[in-house]
Amino acid sequence: MSLLVVGTVAFDTVETPFGKAEHILGGAGTYIGLASSYLTRPINIVSVVGEDFPDKHIQRLKDHGVNTAGIEVVKGGKTFFWAGKYHTDLNSRDTLDTQLNVLADFNPVIPAEFMNCEYLMLGNLLPDVQRKVMAQLPNRPKLVVMDTMNFWMDNFWDSLMEGLKLTDVLTINDEEARQLSGEYSLSKAAKKILTMGPKYLVIKKGEHGALLFGEDKVFFAPALPLDEVFDPTGAGDSFAGGFIGHLARTGDISFENMKTALIYGSVMASFCVEQFGTERLVKLSVEEINSRIKRFVELSQFEIPLS
Ligand code: AMP
Repeated sequence: MSLLVVGTVAFDTVETPFGKAEHILGGAGTYIGLASSYLTRPINIVSVVGEDFPDKHIQRLKDHGVNTAGIEVVKGGKTFFWAGKYHTDLNSRDTLDTQLNVLADFNPVIPAEFMNCEYLMLGNLLPDVQRKVMAQLPNRPKLVVMDTMNFWMDNFWDSLMEGLKLTDVLTINDEEARQLSGEYSLSKAAKKILTMGPKYLVIKKGEHGALLFGEDKVFFAPALPLDEVFDPTGAGDSFAGGFIGHLARTGDISFENMKTALIYGSVMASFCVEQFGTERLVKLSVEEINSRIKRFVELSQFEIPLS
């Protein structure tokens, strides 16, 4: 079932304790598109880049079956740029630079062929842009999943609140959930956020897994303990790609199936962090994905006979 992804396609400069990679392919839309491409088709992406963006990067998405007809190339424009540096524990990072460039004036135009999407993934982006996308769709998608971050909470609060009212599932990390709700307890934070619009909330906790809230239920998916984590950039977006990719593939948006989607999200995130940038995500096989799903099952399955 058709998936529409809206998100940044970007240049990233990333520094981790293991090294530095400059001006590599990044962006929330990129990671979501690549991660979901192993699970569902068709995938259409709407984004914007500058004239400085090399064709080979767009080709990477095309090679994964992502329809890039909705990526606008702004003549003379510069592509969105983000730079970040990870701390030694790799769980936290500092944003060193965010240059919106062509994103600042981005007015998304959805190609006619993308209009009837059933699944909409609004990647971390200007809340205004996220809403402009939804406003153009003639029919409400079956499921709208939104990601956002502290940057937009700090600078575009009102617009973000409007967008949340149109969202089915919000995916954010624990720090963002605390900021959005003003509550430290994630359980209290979830209750508050679920009054803001979304029916379901996914809270990502990095190497400590992810929580799914909704319908007065909670589900927890662990993160896989990995020997090597090189670069956590894009883990959240790969998670989102795996999550919505599974839901789009199965066409089932029940809480039960969202639990499985949480595992697919965790699996895609676990691959993403194993190498710099998109390097690991672009060369996965179905066998690798299935065997990692199996590891997740083994990791968290237990039975306790109650007397
Ligand atoms: P994640 O590690 O999942 O939070 O995603 C990192 C990706 O998000 C990077 O590839 C960045 O290009 C992109 N990114 C960083 N800041 C922003 C922002 N303010 N808006 C949209 N995308 C961003």
